[in-house]
Amino acid sequence: MIAALVILVVEVGNDYLIFIVRGIFIPSLCYIGGIIMLKAFITESDTLYFNSETFTLSTSIDDLNNNIKKENDYSILKKVVINISNNCNLSCTYCYADGGNYGMMNQLMNIDTADKIIDQLVSRRIQCIKRLILFGGEPFLNIDLFVYIIEKLSKNIEIQKIETVTNGTILNKKVEMMINNYHPFLTVSLDGPQLIHDKLRGKGSHRRTLNFIQYLKEIDYENFEVASTYTRMHQILGFQKRGYL
Ligand code: SF4
Repeated sequence: MIAALVILVVEVGNDYLIFIVRGIFIPSLCYIGGIIMLKAFITESDTLYFNSETFTLSTSIDDLNNNIKKENDYSILKKVVINISNNCNLSCTYCYADGGNYGMMNQLMNIDTADKIIDQLVSRRIQCIKRLILFGGEPFLNIDLFVYIIEKLSKNIEIQKIETVTNGTILNKKVEMMINNYHPFLTVSLDGPQLIHDKLRGKGSHRRTLNFIQYLKEIDYENFEVASTYTRMHQILGFQKRGYL
């Protein structure tokens, strides 16, 4: 038993979770997958139980069991990814998806297919989706279906977060309305200076993506990030990985 300020560091993949607890510390060790994990603390006011599956602390063993049950609750899906566009309006030189179609036909998902997916989720009694990711290709090529899926799914299922990845070259009234109504988390691809971006992603694409980002700033939209692909071209032209945007 140690009376101390206890700092627990847990390695999770490449990240570390740090818990700081003041009080009396009784380590109870268990060995899981090569990592020794601490199971419980007794603090000045409470006992905290450590859940080595979810890396959280709970104040009672019942809470802990409930949390584990919740995590194992098959009515909750952590992530649903739906590719609604096997098509893209760009053809980036390094595209991971063969120009957006993954080596298949260029096509957009239709309502029938979306309905089948939604029916499957509803018939399996899914009640909550933590992250709904509508993906492509370029998902905004299929903006009507983008909105349709959100609206129809959310009639039956709680959606906690909507996400998408876009090249930011498609901005029209429908895209604007979707952003304003549903506040998705947007990952916008921008590869840095115009010279490089246009070489990698096509002439004029840099200007259009900047317009998109400009629009987000004008409406004070903060729920987005800019993602860049760092290539040999950046290296050759002397752009460092950090701070080249
Ligand atoms: S925008 Fe994305 S999907 Fe489209 S060609 Fe470029 S990398 Fe591929």
